[in-house]
Amino acid sequence: MCGIVGYIGHREAYPIIMKGLKRLEYRGYDSAGIALFDGKDIKLSKTKGKVEDLEKKIAEEISTQGSLGIGHTRWATHGVPNDVNSHPHYSNSGNLVIIHNGIIENYEPLKQELESRGYVFTSDTDTEVLVNLIEEIKNNEDIKLGKAVQIALNQVVGAYAIAVFDRTKPNEIVVARLGSPLAIGIGEDEFFIASDASPFIEYTNNAIYLKDEEMAVVRVNRGVSIRKIHDDSIVNPYIQELQLHLEQIEKGGYDHFMLKEINEQPHAIRDSFRGRLLSNQAIIKMSGVEDNMKKFLNADRILIVACGTSWHAGLVAEYIFEDMARIPVEVEYASEFRYRNPVITEDDIVIAISQSGETADTLAAIKLAKSRGAFVFGVCNVVGSSIARETDAGAYTHAGPEIGVASTKAFTTQISVLSMMALRLARAKGTITSSEFRQYLYELESIPDKIEVALESDAIVKQIAEVYKDAKNFLYLGRGYNFPVALEGALKLKEISYIHAEGYPAAEMKHGPIALIDEHMPTVVIATRKGHYEKIVSNIQEIKSRKGYIIAIVTKGDVSVKELADHAIEIPETFDCFSPLLTTIPLQLLSYHIAVMLGKNVDQPRNLAKSVTVE
Ligand code: GLU
Repeated sequence: MCGIVGYIGHREAYPIIMKGLKRLEYRGYDSAGIALFDGKDIKLSKTKGKVEDLEKKIAEEISTQGSLGIGHTRWATHGVPNDVNSHPHYSNSGNLVIIHNGIIENYEPLKQELESRGYVFTSDTDTEVLVNLIEEIKNNEDIKLGKAVQIALNQVVGAYAIAVFDRTKPNEIVVARLGSPLAIGIGEDEFFIASDASPFIEYTNNAIYLKDEEMAVVRVNRGVSIRKIHDDSIVNPYIQELQLHLEQIEKGGYDHFMLKEINEQPHAIRDSFRGRLLSNQAIIKMSGVEDNMKKFLNADRILIVACGTSWHAGLVAEYIFEDMARIPVEVEYASEFRYRNPVITEDDIVIAISQSGETADTLAAIKLAKSRGAFVFGVCNVVGSSIARETDAGAYTHAGPEIGVASTKAFTTQISVLSMMALRLARAKGTITSSEFRQYLYELESIPDKIEVALESDAIVKQIAEVYKDAKNFLYLGRGYNFPVALEGALKLKEISYIHAEGYPAAEMKHGPIALIDEHMPTVVIATRKGHYEKIVSNIQEIKSRKGYIIAIVTKGDVSVKELADHAIEIPETFDCFSPLLTTIPLQLLSYHIAVMLGKNVDQPRNLAKSVTVE
């Protein structure tokens, strides 16, 4: 899980690669490196740390000329983040240089084999094994780089997106992918390589997304030739026109991507609704659901597989699918599901949720479900991603690129899409009446406006953050639809402020966590008027009588909770089933402000990466 960038053409490669690495830094950021071909030789510089650190090092170390180069931001899997383990990696002769995203699982036996033939390894990475394996094959068989890469990859078990070039033949870059994304930007006599299209969007709108098990030789003047790695068959390149705009991947005046993305939620959700939620005509139009309506209506149950924040969106979906459409739902962590021999039948529908569409565990869960005959529906954000391709049908969330590592708009757009699905199925099954359906549509459609109002709580949330920023622990409580929001609120705080936080169903508090309550443990309680209000009021009283401090999320105009709580944040009234879309907003803001006040790197929290493409 890292970012890779490459360039070959007529411009200076250095600025393109550096800018690209900065845009991809969300994918991994424990080290960074670059290799440039200056017309005679390879100039390589790499370092532990961020792309900024790399820039400083390059200024002292190497010249930056050349119109061929590759760059990498690493998220270590094999070997600690240090200068030596950073990419790019040379082969032993110094002729080949590689960048790699992913894991070579069988690197150990390959390494032993190469060592027995005299190869020496300087790093602990699996990647250095791969580049030397390529070199060994190339030299032994006296073949071209592309062929050697292909033979090597056929010996490799694991996941990869790679880019490699040879200083003795500096007119081509060879790339390949299995399990990790790789896009090729097509310009006029120039080509861009990247993990996603953001590094080259200002240069070209044309891109090829390599599919799994495909490799390409990218040559100046000769274009791109693509083959299947395993059977050597030729693939006709499919050039896609990109819809991405530069401003979508820049901060737009906000201090952090996370804050920008929190504030983008009204717009992002409207984009999720566009063309689908047609309240005037009392219609929800989702082709992935419509085309498979029979399957949905006959399904015995729905299994939702996801990880992290997407798993929380799945929990909200469980409530709404069961509540509205009366379809039994189970929500599973993809990482558990894939390894525990679950019961899956042809009458099950599996919904896989992932922002990036590249989450390794979720992809593996999809493959397992498909092998058992289940129909798999994907909900993801990144168009053309692996999950979008692996699933039988699906719905994009259309949230736009999410760069902040802590997911915000991805969560609310996932819930929006899943809510539309639940309502559409409820209508088809007749579990809600047509007039109820209409009411739900109008209310759902009003959510983006209500989020705009919820965002106005920013100033008060900031004051609350100031009071509690030094707390060592937080408890988050919610009931019903807002129990998953409590989990998500706690996760947000952990991710970016590194404060320990627990989310709990409010009533469960009595069965353990209440022992932790004292004046040092603030509790965030979601206490909206529709959701089991009286019960939550009792829970708050239980906390108050143990000297705990309460930060309550309440419905506008609330009286009782406001009297009891130490702080109250108002959000607009809505139906209980849609309330997670509003209650989550102040919790996102709370974690954001606390993290900023503590001086943490909000967009790139330690140890985390945006899309988890390793298991
Ligand atoms: N497995 C490689 C390493 O640890 C690549 C990791 C990545 O995707 O950044 O260096």
